[in-house]
Amino acid sequence: MASDFSRPHLLGIKGMDAAAINQILDLAEHYVEADYSDHAFAEKCRGRALANLFFEPSTRTLASFELAGKRLGMDVITLPVAASSVHKGETLSDTAATLDAMGVDLLVLRHPETGAAQAVARQVSCSVINAGDGTNEHPTQALLDALTMRRHKGRLEGLVVAICGDLKHSRVGRSNFHLLRTMGATVRAVAPKAFVPDDAAELGLEVFDNLERGLEGADVVMMLRLQKERMAVAELPSPVAYFAAFGLDAERLKKARPDAIVMHPGPLNRGIEIASDVADDPARSVILDQVRLGVPLRMAVLDLLSRG
Ligand code: ASP
Repeated sequence: MASDFSRPHLLGIKGMDAAAINQILDLAEHYVEADYSDHAFAEKCRGRALANLFFEPSTRTLASFELAGKRLGMDVITLPVAASSVHKGETLSDTAATLDAMGVDLLVLRHPETGAAQAVARQVSCSVINAGDGTNEHPTQALLDALTMRRHKGRLEGLVVAICGDLKHSRVGRSNFHLLRTMGATVRAVAPKAFVPDDAAELGLEVFDNLERGLEGADVVMMLRLQKERMAVAELPSPVAYFAAFGLDAERLKKARPDAIVMHPGPLNRGIEIASDVADDPARSVILDQVRLGVPLRMAVLDLLSRG
């Protein structure tokens, strides 16, 4: 196993040092520009088995783990959770043990409960990758976001990153806070008061409850979706009122640096947290680049964990 990334699992960014983060990003760079048409890495992880186990919806994360595993030559299975024995009452623990017993080497898990990936990791002998656990962490999203920022801005250290929207319920926000603070960026939490994380001070965040002020001089503007599925109905603002107060449009974006990039982990809720013309502006939006870089970044993670 490589020296910095000496861990059997990828459960979160919290506790990961700059050397380990850089090791993953540097290896991802190696996979970014590769020509996959001739199956260049098909022998890399041949014989290893990867299982995707997703208890919540996913488009980008699931598809990119599948593609990343296949490009490395792995045997990839995606358990159709709704059509599996979970539907017959099987627990997460028993489902994970079942896949482990089949000899799966890497288990990619998304689950609505905070701590689900940690709990499974304690129980199985394979490597576990957290693909999102409740409101806690989504480490590969923060890593691909960092790769995107580094490629567009040339560095992470010293960047002013405004992360805006429903930060309280966002695991993407939380993983990004940990990563960006570790890498020496200034991180702003820009959110209506009700959506500021309770531990914002502990996390070392500058808090702004006004979008325009939070965007002033930012190098990176990251917008987040309202995580409706994690809110009580009474907490949910009306889409029109929310966009009026906290939606990113071209006028508000002028407050950020003229060369600021706009990011979003997806899925987009157009006209709620972001206007379509901003999301689709090729001069500012790097949203599809985030998606593109998600595949090589996940290849790097699978490659490193497979060395164990
Ligand atoms: N896809 C990301 C997640 O699973 C972001 C989101 O759903 O808003 O956390």
